[in-house]
Amino acid sequence: PLKDTDAVDDHQITVCVRKRPLNKKELQRKEVDVITVPSKDQMIVHEPKSKVDLTKFLDNQHFRFDYAFDETCNNEMVYKYTAKPLVQTVFEGGMATCFAYGQTGSGKTHTMGGDFNGRTQDCKKGIYAMAAMDVFKFLRSPCYHNSNLRVSSSFFEIYSGKVFDLLANKAKLRVLEDGKQQVQIVGLTEKEVETVDDVLKLIQHGNTARTSGQTSANSNSSRSHAVFQIILRHGPQRRIYGKFSLIDLAGNERGADTSSSNRQTRMEGAEINKSLLALKECIRALGRRGAHLPFRASKLTQVLRDSFIGEKSKTCMIAMISPGLSSCEHSLNTLRYADRVK
Ligand code: ADP
Ligand code: MG
Repeated sequence: PLKDTDAVDDHQITVCVRKRPLNKKELQRKEVDVITVPSKDQMIVHEPKSKVDLTKFLDNQHFRFDYAFDETCNNEMVYKYTAKPLVQTVFEGGMATCFAYGQTGSGKTHTMGGDFNGRTQDCKKGIYAMAAMDVFKFLRSPCYHNSNLRVSSSFFEIYSGKVFDLLANKAKLRVLEDGKQQVQIVGLTEKEVETVDDVLKLIQHGNTARTSGQTSANSNSSRSHAVFQIILRHGPQRRIYGKFSLIDLAGNERGADTSSSNRQTRMEGAEINKSLLALKECIRALGRRGAHLPFRASKLTQVLRDSFIGEKSKTCMIAMISPGLSSCEHSLNTLRYADRVK
């Protein structure tokens, strides 16, 4: 398995997988753990030994990625090999993106937003906050101390193809493309931040907005993409110097809701499906010169357009895996998707 002392590789596209531990409920109902991580870059889905109907499951399936995190890895470790190297990219004037992908309950929000223990989220231990801490570390370093770079943050949600501002009471916002192919979210709140505490407050504020007014029957956080951005600006015009987008994607199983009897659910499912497919193509295009960039195919890829162009763009995807047998099919879907991103 991966050790904290292993070197961090530098790629334009990094694809990783993370397996979470079985939770209390799963242990209580004696869920079988069907996932192993035999080395630091491999994950295996195992054929279960019991004789329930398993015809849909194939034999042991091996997948290889840049890194595979097992259930003993904590957020700090995951951060070190995924988002942390991208902070450097942003300070070099690049666009960086980090995606958490996977089915609902697989650990996307735990990884990005921080550990949720009961009622509150310890957002200090999430990748959003760790990235912000490193941004301020860079700013204080001799290299950038006098650089006049300003840091600001935005936090929004894309739900059913519409953009909502998580820092402004979920105000619905319009997306405009100007003649120069610049994509703008009109009126999006961008708060200047000067300390890590400022950022933590924004994250907390956004998280609360994200989950407020939800019932478990209508849990739209699993149906929406949350985008947290750290923006560096410079010069008298405050032009964008670099940008880091950290994204907690909608549950990928929601993309399969396209045959639901509920029209709303069906449309949301179709939208999620479309955006995750477009996302895969846009990331792939990053690594291929002249490749088609279908950024207009979904709101998610449209608003992230500037992150998919340019030599300095870098992306990392963390695919989250629930270890239980009952999640086996979703896990295979997730692993296959992640396998095709690069
Ligand atoms: P998602 O956002 O993908 O729907 P969550 O992040 O909400 O999933 O995780 C579901 C549950 O599993 C949460 O209670 C979370 O605290 C827990 N969990 C997820 N990943 C881990 C992990 N690596 N270690 C411990 N608990 C985890
Ligand atoms: Mg979540």
